[in-house]
Amino acid sequence: MPHQNVRPKSPHSVGLAVRHLQNLRRRDLLAGAALIDGRWVVGEQRDSVVDPATEEEIADVARCSAADMDLAIAAAERSFVAWRELLPAERGAILRSWASLMLRHSEELAVLVTCEQGKPLAEARHEIAYGAGFLEWFAAEGERAYGETIPSHKIGSLLQVRMQPIGVAAAITPWNFPVAMITRKAGAALAAGCSIIVKPAPETPLSALAVARLAEEAGVPRGVFQVLVGDPIELSTPLLRDTRIRALSFTGSTEVGRLLLRGAADTVKKMSLELGGHAPFLVFDDVDLNKAVKGAMAAKFATSGQDCLAANRIYVQRGIYGDFVEAFATAMRQLKVGHGLDPLTEIGPMTKSSVANKCRVHIDDAAAKGAHVFSAVRDEGLGSNFVLPTLLSDVTDDMLIAREESFGPVAAVLPFDTEEEVLARANASEMGLAAYVYTDSLRRALRLSESIEYGMVGVNTASFTGPPIPFGGWKQSGLGREGSRHGIDEYMELKYVCFGDL
Ligand code: NAD
Repeated sequence: MPHQNVRPKSPHSVGLAVRHLQNLRRRDLLAGAALIDGRWVVGEQRDSVVDPATEEEIADVARCSAADMDLAIAAAERSFVAWRELLPAERGAILRSWASLMLRHSEELAVLVTCEQGKPLAEARHEIAYGAGFLEWFAAEGERAYGETIPSHKIGSLLQVRMQPIGVAAAITPWNFPVAMITRKAGAALAAGCSIIVKPAPETPLSALAVARLAEEAGVPRGVFQVLVGDPIELSTPLLRDTRIRALSFTGSTEVGRLLLRGAADTVKKMSLELGGHAPFLVFDDVDLNKAVKGAMAAKFATSGQDCLAANRIYVQRGIYGDFVEAFATAMRQLKVGHGLDPLTEIGPMTKSSVANKCRVHIDDAAAKGAHVFSAVRDEGLGSNFVLPTLLSDVTDDMLIAREESFGPVAAVLPFDTEEEVLARANASEMGLAAYVYTDSLRRALRLSESIEYGMVGVNTASFTGPPIPFGGWKQSGLGREGSRHGIDEYMELKYVCFGDL
């Protein structure tokens, strides 16, 4: 089998991230300080940030404490009073200005994302545009947060429903989309009239802090948007216990989502959870093979597989199974693996070593149980966080990869015979985030889109996200929706008012 086209770490790539950071056009966007109550807090303790491709330390940031979080909660509560009183159009103007600053500094933000997260620079640039899009979207949605007038059931009364900001919100965000997962939450919260405190993932604080710098520059008032970095448990404990935090939005693993749900029970917060996926990708034998392979490649390898929408189980109907595997393997071998700052790179490192290790466990388990493994021979020049794109064919339902999310560039392909059978296998999961169906039959597409138990379904497409779509899952993939006209509801309370005796 020909070897994969890998781009090894050359001597020139040592220090590549640091050199890029030193050459940032706006050096002040490389903030090592947290933003609390309008002040940039350097802190006494510092944590390192590393380039996951080389494991080189590239910066350090303040490690905030629980006491810092208490200050932030108090500041968020104070700032909420004036922020909620602004007209929705006034809040919208600030959000638009924040979005346009993000776009103006897209290159600097993208470099920060690539240096700490590892994704190819082209994907990082796309993330900045995607992330700014949520601010623009919610700037307008804030003006459309309508209430209702209900036809009255009593003579002489008027029944109204009003939507009001819920209060101080908090967001705990992941490392795979370190900018867009912040703006998707903060855009909705700020448009609703809430203040918000963000705790980004410790692996990717730099881009979060740069976004905070631009928020300040755009005129987001002191205390309305704050970013605190540090130990996840130390910082989330006050958020969970404090009754002043009325809403908590989290994106990350189902395991941590469950912990937060339990932790928020005593203070009964409004919870919005975007958790793990385990997406089935169904390919029927009536479909154009090239389109299906192209779709599966996109759905598997975007963000180097570290995407909750990633196709984790690719089910292919038996009649085209062999051809699909061959075409997929050929396309996969063309992928360029390397440092995200190299313009030719398509697959970067895993951001966390635990994710790379889980991928290896899935590959070994599948191989031991009889799957066929297509991948490149490991290139010693690549760091240990790299997982080479790997195709596992003849995967069976008892293999680990068929039962849990890999979150890396490992593609599992499973044969199936009938529509009924594949639907049952696709739905046999506790996860329910995204699913894909490739077929030329409109009837089958309609039937499956109705009966598949997932929050988002792509029919003959692997690309369906963006600010207008309601992003979220069924079952243990989460609670609530982000983006779309529904996303703002996570930060609002409904109030019913009855005027009698009119
Ligand atoms: P994680 O859930 O541990 O991390 C996500 C966020 O939660 C980070 O900000 C982290 O600091 C915080 N966190 C971690 N433990 C916490 C705790 N005990 N209390 C409060 N906050 C806590 O995710 P991970 O371990 O980095 O990744 C593991 C898996 O999670 C991945 O393999 C993937 O399956 C899933 N994941 C999903 C998404 C998504 O987009 N839905 C994003 C990242 C990770």
